Amino acid sequence: MANSFYPPRHIYYDGKPKTASGSVFRSINPSTAQPLADVHTASHSDIDAAVHSAQRAFHAWSSTPPIARSRILLKAVQILRERNDEIAETETQDTGKPFSETSTVDVVTGADVLEYFANLVAAGGLNGETTQLREDAWVYTKKEPLGVCVGIGAWNYPIQIALWKSAPCLVAGNTMVYKPSEVTPLHAQILAEIFTEAGVPPGVFNVVNGAGDVGAYLTSHEGVAKVSFTGQVSTGKKVASSAAAGMKYTTMELGGKSPLLILPDADVDQAVDGAMMANFFSTGQVCTNGTRVFIPEAMKGPFEKKLLEKMDYIRPGDLMDMNTNFGPLVSEIHYGKVLGYIKHGIEVDKATLLCGGPDKPKAIEGMEDGFWVKPTVFTDCTDSMKIVQEEIFGPVMMILTYKDIEEAIQRANATPLGLAAGVFTRDLNLAHKVIAQLEAGITWVNTWGESPAEMSVGGWKQSGLGVENGKRGLEAWVRNKSTLVDMSGNVPTVFSKL
Ligand code: NDP
Repeated sequence: MANSFYPPRHIYYDGKPKTASGSVFRSINPSTAQPLADVHTASHSDIDAAVHSAQRAFHAWSSTPPIARSRILLKAVQILRERNDEIAETETQDTGKPFSETSTVDVVTGADVLEYFANLVAAGGLNGETTQLREDAWVYTKKEPLGVCVGIGAWNYPIQIALWKSAPCLVAGNTMVYKPSEVTPLHAQILAEIFTEAGVPPGVFNVVNGAGDVGAYLTSHEGVAKVSFTGQVSTGKKVASSAAAGMKYTTMELGGKSPLLILPDADVDQAVDGAMMANFFSTGQVCTNGTRVFIPEAMKGPFEKKLLEKMDYIRPGDLMDMNTNFGPLVSEIHYGKVLGYIKHGIEVDKATLLCGGPDKPKAIEGMEDGFWVKPTVFTDCTDSMKIVQEEIFGPVMMILTYKDIEEAIQRANATPLGLAAGVFTRDLNLAHKVIAQLEAGITWVNTWGESPAEMSVGGWKQSGLGVENGKRGLEAWVRNKSTLVDMSGNVPTVFSKL
């Protein structure tokens, strides 16, 4: 894959790129470890300028009729779709995810969500309720925007996360300051330019680059009304407590250690397909990964045999080749972390290594220095192992066996996290009974991973607060105003006479 070198990234506000005055870091192509772009960090005064730009834009944007906002944002959807492949190529270089994924999932699902929310508000999605209290009195409610909102993104689905946050934010009449992960920052300015080209007024969508300290400054900024965060549980706790100190609204989309339950009557072939998608898509760097795969004891042999056959279908290679379906890990730091877990699984947890492991995979020409790992499967795992308890966020599957379904459900729920869960079975009655008992906000039956715009998604327990997408996803970006109107002419008072 040819390695591009992109123009430097600074900061974006008032509808155009501006020079940032903080330090410079380099964005790296993880497949080759070659530099991609110089990124200029926003200083505190740069961040203040971006927030002020969003504040200045708020009044006019929030007063624009929803249908007019919708028209502008649908134009952005059109541009995103026209530029799909070019943006996907940038995402492939920045994240290391194959073009076969970024061109069919990342930009597509981001544009779909923007289209969904633009259509929702155009069709009255921001309407309130009217309640007749008495013949001459009623209550009406309005959904009002919050003000300047902050979006802070993780590195695994950069443009998708940026759109899943900015779409409901902007359609509701808010303005946004968005901070991408410093690991994958290239999409942010592209999206800002697309919004501007579509007719989104200056200041409505702004970008600041930088690391955690930029996110922390934004989170505590007094000009900010809401923080929508996607990232690790530990960072999410810091962000949520800082936002709570300023009484800001929050949405937290955090990590998981999700269980996938294969029930005794499941089709083995389908179960293996589901388990592979739940562990190796995006090289395992998906928040909803189903890394704890529970299978009945009697199915262990056939499941592992089929899995080993299908592991050959994982095809690392030139990331722009549509046949490639597996890329490197996103960064050197993350590579070290994932390898550390694989070594821990072998040396300390003493799980059985079914395939993969910590050795460097066969080098791919031109990408010898990239952060490639082997897709790895551990079996004979037990619930107390570190690799079973902690989020690895890499292509590492853990197989656990169970005797009866109630036991599997109880073990599946024995985690402080509750992002996703899934079941494979031919018995749909049983599927619903099991799903009803699983403690997770996102659940699947006989499939794994699809997250359409219509589906509200969010974690339970320590995996998050609130949801993104679907009708409920809009509620996170508005506040309620209730008005009681009385036309009787009699003001109820206890002070009308002596
Ligand atoms: P991090 O928590 O490390 O970072 C997330 C974002 O927060 C980054 O932009 C980061 O900046 C920023 N940040 C870091 N410290 C602070 C701080 N103190 N205040 C404000 N912002 C801060 O997560 P990762 O980027 O490593 O992403 C992987 C994690 O995200 C996984 O746990 C995964 O499960 C989760 N995730 C959850 C999803 C969901 O919908 N539930 C979806 C996708 C991922 P920088 O990177 O520049 O340091």
